[in-house]
Amino acid sequence: MKWGILELPCHFGPVQRALLVGRVVHVRFDRRHRCRPSASVTAGWIRGPNRQPTSERSRFALTEAGYHTPVEEYLEAVYALSEEGTAVIAARVAERLGRSAPSVSEMLDRLEVDGLVERSGRMISLTSTGATLAATVVRRHRLAERLLVDVIGLAWHKAHSEAGRWEHVISTEVEAKLIELLGDPATCPHGNAIPGSTPRPRREECPLIDFVGEGMVEILRISEALEPDEPTMSALEGASAIPGRVVEVKWGPSGRTLEGVSGSITVSDELAAMLFIGAEVQLNGETLLG
Ligand SMILES: [Zn+2]
Repeated sequence: MKWGILELPCHFGPVQRALLVGRVVHVRFDRRHRCRPSASVTAGWIRGPNRQPTSERSRFALTEAGYHTPVEEYLEAVYALSEEGTAVIAARVAERLGRSAPSVSEMLDRLEVDGLVERSGRMISLTSTGATLAATVVRRHRLAERLLVDVIGLAWHKAHSEAGRWEHVISTEVEAKLIELLGDPATCPHGNAIPGSTPRPRREECPLIDFVGEGMVEILRISEALEPDEPTMSALEGASAIPGRVVEVKWGPSGRTLEGVSGSITVSDELAAMLFIGAEVQLNGETLLG
């Protein structure tokens, strides 16, 4: 008998849950354990209100806006790690998503079978299909951040986690309306490029950690990896050390500080590696930005 899985018992882990809920499966009951049927996945996913399976090759549920949420999160993580120039291996994906190594490995196997990622040794990359899907999720995430900060007025440091929920429910039609409403923004409020936006010349940037002098610098971008750290993001916001603002770099007994119009923050080397400033200040040794 074919059944569509709507919910699973609590002993199923999050990845099993993500991979099974929404699928059409054959269920075979055995006499001793009526409540624990053995199930094998034999067809595609349930799609839309009619619950018609998608093609035999598609393993992941399509929501109204896009792919199944966990799939989108994995593709987004691989995209963001690649964008930052980080070597994409399973351990980095696990760190970024806060998941265990076995569950990440299992999910990457499935994504590879479905043609969304490919692996060469330990290195993971997106296929062209995976890259297109990932860019869509990242675009929706960053547009949602823009909407939340620029229109709704949510605090800058809270936008990332809130947009993490929105990115999975924005449809193609709403995405187009957001681009129109927001004026086709080039970057999210944290300075990260919005995939698919109209290409514009980009400023040269360098990580703050490479700037060893003192003087005025302009913050251009915050690493996507730092965005989930709300206390640190809040401290940066409190010091006006956010993209588009100019802050003064000073060195004191406690190390490097950034002083902005509304406060200051001590910046460790680890944090300085995730803040990007206009590169011209370092290139010409001047303290004023061009
Ligand atoms: Zn952002």
